[in-house]
Amino acid sequence: MISFEMPEKIQHTVNLMTMVAENMMRPVSRYFDEHEHEIPWDYINFMHDANRQMGGGGFVPSSGDKAKKGNGSEPKQEGPRLGYQRLAYSAEILSWGDTGLYLCSPVGLLGAAAVAATGTAEQKERFLARFTGDKPVLDAMALTEPHAGSAMPAMVRTTAVREDDSWVLNGEKIFVTGGHKALIDTAGFVVVWATIDPAAGRAGVRPFVVEAGTPGCTVTKLEHKLGIRASDTASILLQDCRIPFENILGSPEVEKKTSEGFKGAMATFDASRPMVAASALGLARATLETLKEYLQQKGIVLRYGLPRSRMTSIERELIDMEVMLRSAWLLVLKSVWMMDEKKPNNLEASMGKVRAGDVAVRITQKAVEMLGPAGYSRDLLLEKWFRDAKINDLYEGTGQINRLIVARRILEYGREELS
Ligand SMILES: Cc1cc2nc3c(=O)[nH]c(=O)nc-3n(C[C@H](O)[C@H](O)[C@H](O)COP(=O)(O)OP(=O)(O)OC[C@H]3O[C@@H](n4cnc5c(N)ncnc54)[C@H](O)[C@@H]3O)c2cc1C
Repeated sequence: MISFEMPEKIQHTVNLMTMVAENMMRPVSRYFDEHEHEIPWDYINFMHDANRQMGGGGFVPSSGDKAKKGNGSEPKQEGPRLGYQRLAYSAEILSWGDTGLYLCSPVGLLGAAAVAATGTAEQKERFLARFTGDKPVLDAMALTEPHAGSAMPAMVRTTAVREDDSWVLNGEKIFVTGGHKALIDTAGFVVVWATIDPAAGRAGVRPFVVEAGTPGCTVTKLEHKLGIRASDTASILLQDCRIPFENILGSPEVEKKTSEGFKGAMATFDASRPMVAASALGLARATLETLKEYLQQKGIVLRYGLPRSRMTSIERELIDMEVMLRSAWLLVLKSVWMMDEKKPNNLEASMGKVRAGDVAVRITQKAVEMLGPAGYSRDLLLEKWFRDAKINDLYEGTGQINRLIVARRILEYGREELS
């Protein structure tokens, strides 16, 4: 049964993440916002050690378990599965600390999610085990290309051509979160979506693991961004980039199956969109708490339990914000609970992301508005959170694209009928 209380087994992780968020993220939040592209090594090293001490598994729970067994069979579980719920709580709390820094966590993020969603047991073992190695590593996933983002993966132009025991990749990827840290700053990897048959549209698309240091793979640009400035966003050029044959994710049969690659991209997003939503809500919670504390210092205390007609306008705004925040969190909880229960969650993942993205943007905007000059000033983090919030409505499917997915699911329309 789905529970609306935090499971007790998650409490230890929540305590640890809260400590990290309060002590290792908030104090340096402004610094890394103002020093874009500087690497937060203290945070990265600490999280790496913490992840090792907790037994690894990082941010890809059930797959990490499977990888430990190495035979693809399910691990024995006592009680309900909680892996994705644990991750959602972690993402929320770490983003309460700082969203940009959270995206620098060396525990397996979007690239690892792609490996977990599409890789074989052997590939999961090979690629995910490195998050608990001696040194921290970061991962990334590259789908977007200069000519298309929302229209992916149907319009992938990056090619993968088989040559004996290798794949040779050519193409350009842009806006790769953590691409520089995965390929240059650490010995990590990027999951690159490329086509093995450009004439086949989305049916030809497959995920490939490109490891740091592979000749022919270069980081050509780092974006200067509005928000999440602690996280690097890179452009990657693949020029005759040769990777081992085994680095195509999926079973050896994957080459022959037509819809496998596309399904893999969707499965990755079903797992990662709830984390983006949770991250958005952590930021929104930080904003609401700070706003209330500031108002309290000015003698404005939110009075609960009054009829709406007797509330002040500020009180009504604050209550509306709380409603938005809590209701969106329930959607996120449902989508991760479904992941843990291995139920299809495509609708709920997109619904939660749409709602959480909207909520983060609206709450941060409202907070800046309500405090006026204080909200706009760099004395508080509110203006930063206002800038950080918007990305949640952009990456991993924009608000419009996720709304389309929701509509298709509810109305039972196909892609051809509603696009
Ligand atoms: C900071 C940052 C980090 C990112 N990280 C990654 C990453 O790690 N990996 C990766 O692969 N990509 C990443 N992206 C890319 C991101 O996923 C894309 O920018 C996004 O999918 C939108 O694609 P696009 O840029 O081509 O915009 P477009 O698809 O051109 O969209 C432009 C506008 O048109 C709207 N639109 C497009 N199609 C439709 C439609 N059918 N109906 C209604 N509206 C529509 C969109 O919602 C948007 O508002 C990142 C982007 C940013 C800004």
